[in-house]
Amino acid sequence: MPQARTLRALSLLLLCLLLVGLCGFSAYRIGQRLGIAELQATGLHRLEIYAGSLEREISKYAFLPGTLSLEQEVLDVLAGKVDRRTRERVNAYLEKLNERAGTLSIYIMDTQGRVLATSNWRRPDSFLGEDLSFRPYFKDALVSGSGRFFGIGTTRSEPGYYLATALTGDKGTLGVAVTKVSLEQLEKSWATVEAPVFVADENGVVILSAVPGWKFTALRGLDDATRANFERTQQYNRRPLPPLGLQQLATYEGGTRLVRIATTRPETVSVYPVSGRFLEQSRALPGTPWTLTVLSQLEQVDELAQSRAALAAIAAACLCMLGIIVNERRRHLRDRLAAREELQRAHDQLERKVEERTADLSTANQQLQDEVGERIRAERTLRAAQDELVQAGKLAVIGQLSAGIAHELNQPLAALRTLSANAGKFLERGDVDTTRTNLGRIAEMVDRMGRISGQLRTFARKSSGQSAEVPLCRALDNALALLESRLRRAGAVVERSCPSEDPVALCDANRLEQVLVNLIGNALDAMAGQPQPRLEVGWECSETQVRLHVRDHGPGLSDEAAAHLFEPFFTTKAAGDGLGLGLAISAGIVRDFGGHLHGANHPDGGAVFTLELPLAARHD
Ligand code: ADP
Repeated sequence: MPQARTLRALSLLLLCLLLVGLCGFSAYRIGQRLGIAELQATGLHRLEIYAGSLEREISKYAFLPGTLSLEQEVLDVLAGKVDRRTRERVNAYLEKLNERAGTLSIYIMDTQGRVLATSNWRRPDSFLGEDLSFRPYFKDALVSGSGRFFGIGTTRSEPGYYLATALTGDKGTLGVAVTKVSLEQLEKSWATVEAPVFVADENGVVILSAVPGWKFTALRGLDDATRANFERTQQYNRRPLPPLGLQQLATYEGGTRLVRIATTRPETVSVYPVSGRFLEQSRALPGTPWTLTVLSQLEQVDELAQSRAALAAIAAACLCMLGIIVNERRRHLRDRLAAREELQRAHDQLERKVEERTADLSTANQQLQDEVGERIRAERTLRAAQDELVQAGKLAVIGQLSAGIAHELNQPLAALRTLSANAGKFLERGDVDTTRTNLGRIAEMVDRMGRISGQLRTFARKSSGQSAEVPLCRALDNALALLESRLRRAGAVVERSCPSEDPVALCDANRLEQVLVNLIGNALDAMAGQPQPRLEVGWECSETQVRLHVRDHGPGLSDEAAAHLFEPFFTTKAAGDGLGLGLAISAGIVRDFGGHLHGANHPDGGAVFTLELPLAARHD
């Protein structure tokens, strides 16, 4: 999950960067286009201004050579019919005219190209008499009537613009008049312009330039034939004409070009950069084979476009940031909403579960209560049944004892009748002593009978079910007393060892006696037929419990009896002798006391039943 999040953030960042870059780039391109369009408009304007001024400068002198034909003496000189003085006058006239017009020189040539008169006739470097027939302007004037030519003077190496006009007389062309105009002034005025401007002639050689270093450089490569022609016409007076180093980068509509000028000449001194990228705009100058070119710096356009691009990029970045923040906020809100919903769902689920569990619990609780009620009812029924059973067991014992008891009571009753009859006779005789003795024996017998019936009553009584502190030796005495007649009849010997201190258990005395009667009764049954049955009752005491052993010397427990000893209705006795309930009831009673009853065979023969009971806490 965190990995997917990082990936999402990365792609978002990349997207933003892309967007910022795209905006910046687009703004740069648009800015550049707008800037170039602006530059183009300005350049065009400048082009018009400079072309106009140049045209005016040239046209100012265009008429001058032609006006010489108005001077008869000039025509005479050309016709060759003048003397030396006339020639001097013409020379002086040309000199004065040159001075007034402010041109470089004015001269006339015959049809052979020889200079016949010139304004500089007085100067030592005067070209008076020189043959200038090689100059193209001369040839052009002869052919077409006029010639224009930019060139460097052969004598003074002075660059200038030659305006030539053929002078005609009655007999046709007499010669050619030439005015050499300097464009230096114009060039100087260009020095203050804000961007380079230059004029290239028909050969692509820069002849006028606002940048002095560019003058007499070639815009295009010059082949050998061209250079040979220059040599012949001495147009540039053997200047080397190095290349300007102008390289075209792109072309725009309207003949505008994007160019780069790579080299900066060391001699170049300018207020504006003369190398780098420029927007080039050119136009032909009417009446000349020249081309006027203005260059506009792209640096400012670039800078403006760059700042616009930077602005656009910053704006895009801000927008992206805003977008990211808004998006993050929305996502955060969405997450919170989802978390809240999830929480609500979990809460609802929990509540539902709690309700379900509560319902389950109450159902379970109800079931448990029902079960407990059921158990309590069952236990009550069981206890009642058990009580009934105990009572039944007791009655069974009493039934078993009844024959012996009847015998026990019959005997004293018979004796009582005899004694009472005798007592009457002795009283009649006046034998008071014997009568008293008889009455004493009667009282003893009644007491004994009362004891027997009392014991029976106590045994038969329904127990209260309440626990109390019961001295165990006394309980054993009571049980033995109950069985006394049986024991006597059987001739049984009871060997009992009583502990020094009578152990006291917390139980119900009546029921405990019932258990002991049952155990002793079973032992007597097992030893029935023996001439002198021997019964051993022993004790073992610890801090917390007492163990009472009832051992007989009978046949012991059979395997079957050992397996089903405490099961109700298990008996090996003949019908009427046993119900098979004695041990089952006894075990239940002892368990109620918190004790334990178990039977086993003694290693030396006979069965031994052990009764374990918890001792009552001592009150010292
Ligand atoms: P009942 O005496 O009515 O048969 P009890 O539950 O008291 O019922 O005894 C179950 C059976 O256990 C007896 O029938 C007898 O087989 C066996 N039994 C009990 N005590 C002894 C004993 N001391 N020696 C041998 N067998 C015994």
